[in-house]
Amino acid sequence: MVSQEKASFYRTKYLSSVKRIVVKVGSGVITGSSGLNLEIMHNLASNICWLWEKGIEVVLVSSGAIAAGMKKLGFSKRPASLSAQQAIAAVGQSDLMLFYERVFSQFQKKVAQILLTKEDISHRQRYLNARNTIFTLLSWQIQPIINENDTVTVDEIKFGDNDNLSALVTKLTGSELLINLTNIDGLFDKDPRVHKDAKLIKVVENVTKDLLKRAGNIPSILGTGGMLSKVKAAHQLAIGGIPTIIANGLKKDIIRKIFSGEEEGTLFIPQESGLSCKRHWIAFAKAPKGSLIIDRGAEKAIMENGKSLLSAGIKEVKGNFNRGDAVIILSEDKKELAIGIVNYSSADIEKIRGLKSSDIEKVLKFKYADEVIHRDNMVFKKQIEEGDDLCLSQGF
Ligand code: GLU
Repeated sequence: MVSQEKASFYRTKYLSSVKRIVVKVGSGVITGSSGLNLEIMHNLASNICWLWEKGIEVVLVSSGAIAAGMKKLGFSKRPASLSAQQAIAAVGQSDLMLFYERVFSQFQKKVAQILLTKEDISHRQRYLNARNTIFTLLSWQIQPIINENDTVTVDEIKFGDNDNLSALVTKLTGSELLINLTNIDGLFDKDPRVHKDAKLIKVVENVTKDLLKRAGNIPSILGTGGMLSKVKAAHQLAIGGIPTIIANGLKKDIIRKIFSGEEEGTLFIPQESGLSCKRHWIAFAKAPKGSLIIDRGAEKAIMENGKSLLSAGIKEVKGNFNRGDAVIILSEDKKELAIGIVNYSSADIEKIRGLKSSDIEKVLKFKYADEVIHRDNMVFKKQIEEGDDLCLSQGF
């Protein structure tokens, strides 16, 4: 347990000077028994516009398309078929934007819809394009509203949930804080809807296995993620050096309260020296397409001596991948060491593995680089593993 004094210190430290933040709002916040809740959305818009007036840029990540679509079409439970969910999302997304348009216009704020897929974010050029578009909207003082492009994504290429999406968007937009609004007060030690004695955890300095287990026992009723995906997203950002607050979006003026010094919700403390934007992208936005098993010499070179991975140290290539894809680097005894972006395809590495870099051109008849994975494009498992196998579930 963190002392009250320290909790206040953290709040001031991480809130007092932010200039750009992401607010994520869950389906359980903005949809009620009769569909989208205009009153809650109005209050959310009012709070966000208040932040803009204080000079803080806000990127909004909003769920609710499927929940709103279900209500509109009269479904009482989420259909199992993917195409039905996608059709429902198509109906709900336009409703969602219509409502946002209405509530933000009352504060003379224009809104813009951005629908992203995991592929958009895992492809470096598309990632940078999305970033530039969001930056342009922010510079025009337009409110970007982001959701997953549910109508075209299938399970294998999904973000999984909007918590993961919002964490990636926070890093992508260079934001300094994620406020994740859900329908309970924050992270509790047990499910407060079931246990009367559940206690709110005010500050999380480290995401431990135990914490993830507790979060796993607090499911979501309407959205897809529940508390576990929120804690994982907060952990992902903590590794990237960014704090997160999980708070209750059903409470009136929750964002104003947070920025007025009220200790609402659960604050997740970031690591002091977080991963750079690029390394964070490699670790969390790219799904690895294969792996490389390396010998002990190469392991020592990359793990202890700060070197890049060269063809000479590669023993085995697994999977089919292209230049630019992410792969996992494994030790001889199959321990995951790092993830990195390859300069050569799996077929090319198969031809050059075990050879000196000076032989690459002779064998392949071309050469992109001396290194198979450059040091700058590598993230070590130990940099992101604190707490749990979180990284594995994020595709590491
Ligand atoms: N993209 C989904 C929607 O708008 C929400 C996913 C989630 O609940 O995390 O309905």
